Amino acid sequence: MRQVDIIVIGGGIAGLSAAMRFARRAKTVVIEREGALGYHSSGRSATFSHFGIGDAAVRGMTAASRPFFETPPEGFVEGALSIARPAMFIATQEIIGELRALETEMTRFTDTIHRVGPQEMLGIVPVLRTGEGGIVEGLLDTGGRKLDSDLLLQGCAKQVRAAGGEVVTDAGSLSVTRSGERWIVETQGTAYSAAILVDAAGAWADEIAIGAGVRPLGLQPLRRTIIGFDPPAGLDVSEWPFTKTAGDEGFYMLPDAGRLLASPMDVTPTEPTDAQPEDYDVAVAAWRVEEATTLEVGRVKTKWAGLRTFTADKVPTAGFAPDAPGFFWLAGQGGYGLQTAPAMALAAEALLFGDAWPEELAAYGVRPEQVMPDRLFG
Ligand SMILES: Cc1cc2nc3c(=O)[nH]c(=O)nc-3n(C[C@H](O)[C@H](O)[C@H](O)COP(=O)(O)OP(=O)(O)OC[C@H]3O[C@@H](n4cnc5c(N)ncnc54)[C@H](O)[C@@H]3O)c2cc1C
Repeated sequence: MRQVDIIVIGGGIAGLSAAMRFARRAKTVVIEREGALGYHSSGRSATFSHFGIGDAAVRGMTAASRPFFETPPEGFVEGALSIARPAMFIATQEIIGELRALETEMTRFTDTIHRVGPQEMLGIVPVLRTGEGGIVEGLLDTGGRKLDSDLLLQGCAKQVRAAGGEVVTDAGSLSVTRSGERWIVETQGTAYSAAILVDAAGAWADEIAIGAGVRPLGLQPLRRTIIGFDPPAGLDVSEWPFTKTAGDEGFYMLPDAGRLLASPMDVTPTEPTDAQPEDYDVAVAAWRVEEATTLEVGRVKTKWAGLRTFTADKVPTAGFAPDAPGFFWLAGQGGYGLQTAPAMALAAEALLFGDAWPEELAAYGVRPEQVMPDRLFG
């Protein structure tokens, strides 16, 4: 039996970014079931940071996370953890109200946005369908950022190890039991004992809790699909912004390594699983791109799906379970788990060690009661 202080279940961005902070203060082990870190949601995202998503708490955490992505700590990564890339939100006349509402929300967190009309939009993304029935207005945020999820995950894992912590992959299935004041996690190879168990198992976080006899949060995984296709020969898309329909329905599109990626913004409820793209969602993605632009998708060169796992109020959760001593939730990162990870890790550290609430979060209006699990139990 290995004795540690903190066991983190889940080697996605939630578990690793928090473990990086825990490991500096306590003996920490991260246990990941799969052979590769970020095999599930964290390795399947669009890896963009923008203010066009979530509520004020999520936007506040997005803002508080920006300094980490712009200037990572010394020695965190070799190479660029993120690059500046605009985000543009677009609307037809029917949804202009949603674009205006978004503008109001975003203005609280970024001063780099301005409205763009059809001419300016076409100068930025020349394939957009403007004019009669088409896109009439956009909102350009020149302060968006494209993140590198692989560098982020590996950088966090490196920091855990450098601080004397351990990151275990390929752990296979595990069981969680309570023995006296400690949590016991038995993997196929090794058993670990710790006073604190952190549940950062993404879509599986409720399953881990139920197995440990802890009341679940009521998490809902939603499947989302991404396709990749080649732009027309001779068209340089590398500087195109992350372009997204305002509101919850539509599509988004962004350049990535010479290709264009697009998502139909599907939100299909599903069980925790190794999500795979469905033909229908792939077809809808291509159709929505062709509806909003003059692009022809042609052959879909790559496609994948992943899970975005939400709490009822869609705000990520960090904090001790009210019904189980030493059981710490770190779940429900939804569709913004990468862009909010540095802030959530700060929140998790403060709540786990009983520190004062971080200034960096308070400065953007993020309060502990917005993220603590107690709010979800009424
Ligand atoms: C298509 C798509 C696009 C997205 N785009 C963005 C974006 O642009 N920006 C952004 O910020 N976010 C985006 N997201 C959301 C982001 O990817 C997630 O919020 C984030 O990755 C969640 O991280 P996580 O660590 O909670 O979950 P995961 O990355 O899923 O990590 C949880 C880990 O726990 C492990 N685990 C589960 N059960 C066990 C067990 N029993 N034992 C051991 N390990 C276990 C899993 O194997 C998994 O590796 C997107 C998501 C999707 C699907």
